[in-house]
Amino acid sequence: MSFEDNYQVTSKFSEHTHDFLSSHTIAPTPVNYAVIYLYISNENELLTAAIDRQLQSGDIISTDFLADLFSRYVSFSQQVEETVLAPFEESLTKTLNNISEQVSKEDKAANSLKKLDKILNKTEHHASLENIVNYLFSTINNAKNQHQALSKELTSTQQEINQLKEKLASSREEALVDSLTGLLNRRGCDEKLQELSLQDTHSSLAIDIDHFKSINDKFGHFIGDKVIQRIAKTIKDHTSEQDIAVRFGGEEFVVVMTNKNIAQAKEVAETIREAISKLKLIQRETNTYLPPISVSIGVAQSGNAQSWVNLFEQADEALYQAKNSGRNRCICA
Ligand code: GH3
Ligand code: MG
Ligand code: MG
Repeated sequence: MSFEDNYQVTSKFSEHTHDFLSSHTIAPTPVNYAVIYLYISNENELLTAAIDRQLQSGDIISTDFLADLFSRYVSFSQQVEETVLAPFEESLTKTLNNISEQVSKEDKAANSLKKLDKILNKTEHHASLENIVNYLFSTINNAKNQHQALSKELTSTQQEINQLKEKLASSREEALVDSLTGLLNRRGCDEKLQELSLQDTHSSLAIDIDHFKSINDKFGHFIGDKVIQRIAKTIKDHTSEQDIAVRFGGEEFVVVMTNKNIAQAKEVAETIREAISKLKLIQRETNTYLPPISVSIGVAQSGNAQSWVNLFEQADEALYQAKNSGRNRCICA
């Protein structure tokens, strides 16, 4: 589809969205606009089905209903900013510019009238003309006030859009990051991996806490979580910004070491393992030390892996060997 076609389709959708909103007396807030726009452009099957159901049942399309659809189907979607908010914002900016142009024209007209009024005042014989001038004056001032009020309203819509954008950014962030540790979750990992090529040399670490079940059993789940946090922090502290540190499961971590061969990755793995084995964790309430914690690590290199999953499996296989040969060690695939 060419840019022109695309633009025409987009503005058609936009027009229909406005029609739908006004015929159902729904306020054109960014959230309402976004949901109805996606409905009109038929971008999301589930969302379309939900609105169709609501329409068929004869229930009204309420703001709450739309807000719910927004949080369920829209707020995670990557495209919402490009497909919905950007065109909406663009038309808003245009409208705002038109209005401020209008206001400045009205200012000019009012100034000319003022001058005319002064001249008429000096000459005295023009009472009827003065009435006309006064009438024009008040008409222009009314129009100007109305435009300014509208402009104020639109500016607050603009602010609403900005807040919505921030919310979208943070909910996207939340969807990619593990809340306990601040490391990436699997989804975040998948996203980062898309920036890398498996053809280049990368390595992967599979890290699993040793005998973690006994920590939970002896000290409880809460302390268990604290241990997971400290280990995650240690992993983070020993990896660079380019590396991808992930909480892969409960007490399992993956680190993709970008542009590192297996020997370099093993070196980092060793420093992580050592740092964790030296952690001194204290239980505050009872002021007692936790027993030493250790991890086992499997290391693999991307060379002959057909996929990222395959690379992780190779690292996992090495981790299994590390567990079986006594734990608290790093083994290369
Ligand atoms: P191994 O050395 O063989 O890895 O022994 P392990 O006890 O660590 O292994 P296993 O996989 O059998 O047990 C992992 C335990 O981790 C089981 C589960 O209760 C605990 N666990 C998993 N996720 C969490 C979590 O998020 N928080 C806490 N506190 N515990 C978790
Ligand atoms: Mg495990
Ligand atoms: Mg374990």
